[in-house]
Amino acid sequence: MHAPFFDTHAHLTDPRFDADRGAVLERCAQAGVTRVIEVADSPQDWPRALALARSRPAAVRAALGLHPCHAGLCDETLLPRLRRHAALPEVAAIGEIGLDYARSAVPRAVQIDALRRLLGACRQWNKPAVIHCRDAYPDLRRLVAEAFGAPPSGRRFWGVVHCFSGTPDDAVFFAGLGFALGADGPLTYPRNDALREAFRRAGPRAAVLETDSPYLPPQSCRGRRNEPANLPEIAASLASTWAMTVEETADITTRNGLELFGLS
Ligand SMILES: [Zn+2]
Ligand SMILES: [Zn+2]
Repeated sequence: MHAPFFDTHAHLTDPRFDADRGAVLERCAQAGVTRVIEVADSPQDWPRALALARSRPAAVRAALGLHPCHAGLCDETLLPRLRRHAALPEVAAIGEIGLDYARSAVPRAVQIDALRRLLGACRQWNKPAVIHCRDAYPDLRRLVAEAFGAPPSGRRFWGVVHCFSGTPDDAVFFAGLGFALGADGPLTYPRNDALREAFRRAGPRAAVLETDSPYLPPQSCRGRRNEPANLPEIAASLASTWAMTVEETADITTRNGLELFGLS
């Protein structure tokens, strides 16, 4: 049995799990994935994520946020509601929030404005940020530097750039500023040498594992629904990137994840 794994980003309340969610959670535990962060993308999804966290208190915590696809919903009522929810013990982080220039129909200026306010809220409320970024790394670097400026004191991470897909230079930048980098299924794809180089350059102390289930299946199940039990395959890819054992990789990424989300 490996050291326990931590899936730091999943969407298990997605309707694609409605038929067999219990079995998925069972396979997750059997694979040694003892902790999961359930991520809610919009206020409409918050109650479901909270309910899952409450039903599995030893294993699941929630992250509640506003995905850049929903950034238009960031009105003056949203932040006070999010603040009340963020105070609940089952809420480990704010997210996902971020920038998506590949898929979001929301204008970039609106996404940027929403992210600026949400990052300010994370800092003010002392909550880790779970950041989503697609094709927007230069703007994200600017906004994160503006919001945080330097690494935190008294803890290692401000948050995580989930499903990290930037360059090796981006990886070093975010790790240096106090952000963890989320490693997902794409790390296992044969052509993604540049991504593996990014994780090699940023080093083991900056990485956390995540599946982003039901999205981003690793190489062995491409085209199928992803689930947390696939996390060890991502760990194996990261282990060979670092020339470490899977055991060591599980150990360090789980410890990074616990510290990131303030868990023990
Ligand atoms: Zn995302
Ligand atoms: Zn996600």
